[in-house]
Amino acid sequence: HTKDWDAAIRVIEKIENAGYEAVIVGGAVRDFLLEKDVNDVDVATSAMPEEIKKIFHSTVDVGIAHGTVLVLDEGQPIEVTTYRTEGVYVDFRRPEQVTFVKSLEKDLERRDFTINAMAMTKTGELIDLFGGREDIKNQLIRAVGDPNTRFREDALRMLRAVRFSAQLGFSIEHKTLNAIIQDSDLIEFIAKERIHSELSKMWTSNKVYDGVKTLIESNLATYLEGDFKKYLDDWRYFTTSSSEVGWAYLSLLNRLKLSDIINFYKLSNKEKNFIRNVLNAYQSLLDRWNELDYFQYDIVTLEVAYDFAIWQKVKVPFKKEHIALVKSTLPIQSMAQLAINGNHLKEWTGKKGGPWLKVVLDAALLAVLKKQIKNDEDHLKEWFLHEFNDER
Ligand code: ATP
Ligand code: MG
Repeated sequence: HTKDWDAAIRVIEKIENAGYEAVIVGGAVRDFLLEKDVNDVDVATSAMPEEIKKIFHSTVDVGIAHGTVLVLDEGQPIEVTTYRTEGVYVDFRRPEQVTFVKSLEKDLERRDFTINAMAMTKTGELIDLFGGREDIKNQLIRAVGDPNTRFREDALRMLRAVRFSAQLGFSIEHKTLNAIIQDSDLIEFIAKERIHSELSKMWTSNKVYDGVKTLIESNLATYLEGDFKKYLDDWRYFTTSSSEVGWAYLSLLNRLKLSDIINFYKLSNKEKNFIRNVLNAYQSLLDRWNELDYFQYDIVTLEVAYDFAIWQKVKVPFKKEHIALVKSTLPIQSMAQLAINGNHLKEWTGKKGGPWLKVVLDAALLAVLKKQIKNDEDHLKEWFLHEFNDER
């Protein structure tokens, strides 16, 4: 058991001692049965949020409107949520309103897939009303209840099915998949932020290629930005531990419609900058690749550009390991480490500042990076007076 699991058990004991029910629910139970490391352990309870706040000294209202209280005083933060159903579904979206209920059964019923709709008591007794354990055994993602109904309640669930299938390496059960195909257009009603979050999880999953393939098979790809069909094969060996890399890869593949990708998925500034850098690095890999590229891009950026070039069957004249090696042995790692700056140049020439300073400093940087000159003031001065000053 992980620390989180043990903390959840202590939370459950306290709630039970106060006279209420409490169980572990959702992803934690699923991952426990899969013998995976269980990190976020969620607890569901018959107690109301105010009652939970009375039982524990230290709590945070993280989602009080949805019945969720974060309990801090058991070592690890544990989310405790009152048994609830969801309000009326409007426009195929998950409602803001929830209704608290007394029975665990009702709470489990509103969950998306059978593998996510199990609960476990503190003694390890499994509550499995929809055959989740069997579906785990058979590696199936199956909607709880009638799949069309469930997807019309909240269309994001369709994309969640694809994401879980990529993360777990499971198939989507036949009827559930057919329902997605039928209702796939409803994904257009879903906020792009929620789509972004599911795809981000898919990029870092074990089976990205299978995920993209399922996006196509389920017809969801039709309603998402980017040409998934055309580039399916390009995802075959894709793997990453950072979702940014997934967004960069999608953008590189669809780079003729880059701004459509950025706008549709509402990519963050951090993601946009990363993509811009990878694109620039990739471009210099095609044109001219020199010490300056190693200097100005970080290793992840360079490696993603490199991988992309390989995937695009561009001939790259060095091995990938070369990147980290060259980068770590550059004479300087930042512009601030260059032994001269604009003031030196002005002093040596008696001239005023201006664009010429940058031209000279860039040339000095490249010469230092190429190890043509030593990075000290005297050598740089000698080089400068020889290369530049005579002609001015
Ligand atoms: P992860 O490891 O990605 O966090 P998870 O199963 O914990 O997996 P969450 O998105 O954190 O997934 O949701 C927690 C639980 O809440 C799910 O296991 C599921 O029971 C339920 N749930 C989440 N989103 C939905 C949804 N859109 N519709 C129905 N149930 C949902
Ligand atoms: Mg979770």
